[in-house]
Amino acid sequence: MPLRSDWSTKSCPIARSLDTLGDAWTLVVLRELFVGNSRFDGLREELGIADNVLATRLRAIVDAGLAIKVPYGGTSRPRYEYRLSEVGRDALPVLHALARWGAKHSEAPAGVQPMVIACATCGGPSSSTDWCATCQAPLTVENTEWHRPGKPGRPIRLATAS
Ligand SMILES: [Zn+2]
Repeated sequence: MPLRSDWSTKSCPIARSLDTLGDAWTLVVLRELFVGNSRFDGLREELGIADNVLATRLRAIVDAGLAIKVPYGGTSRPRYEYRLSEVGRDALPVLHALARWGAKHSEAPAGVQPMVIACATCGGPSSSTDWCATCQAPLTVENTEWHRPGKPGRPIRLATAS
C-alpha cells in the first residue's frame, strides 16, 4: 500500500523526484549500489532490512528505471545483481546533498569519521554536490571517491565499484 498519493504528475519537479526517490530505503539501496554492493545478500547484510522489504524496494527501483537487474553466476538457479542505470547514476548529487545536509544538521555517533566526498582527478575533498571545488572536475560516478563513515580503509572509487 502506498504511503502517500501519486506525485508523479505534479508540476513541481522536486515533488516528481520524490515520487521516485522519496523513500528512505530506496535512497540507502542506491547508496549501496553506488559502492558496488549490488547483490541481495550483501544489501540485506549491510542494511539490516527484512527480505520482503528489500525485495519490494528492489522491484520499485528497477520499475522506476533507477537500476537494471542482471543475472550472474550459474544457470541452475538464477541469481541477480542490480546495476545503476543512467537514471540511477544521475541521483549521485542527490546523495551528496543528503550527506552534506546530514553532516551539518544531524549528529554523528561518537568516534565515527565523517563521510568525505572526494574528487578522483585531484584527490581533493569536495564541498559541492556535483563539482570538485579544487579542480572543477564534475563529480560523476567515474570521478568520485567516498570515504565512508564507520568503514576505515581506502576510499571507495565509485566507478570501479559498480
Ligand atoms: Zn578535483
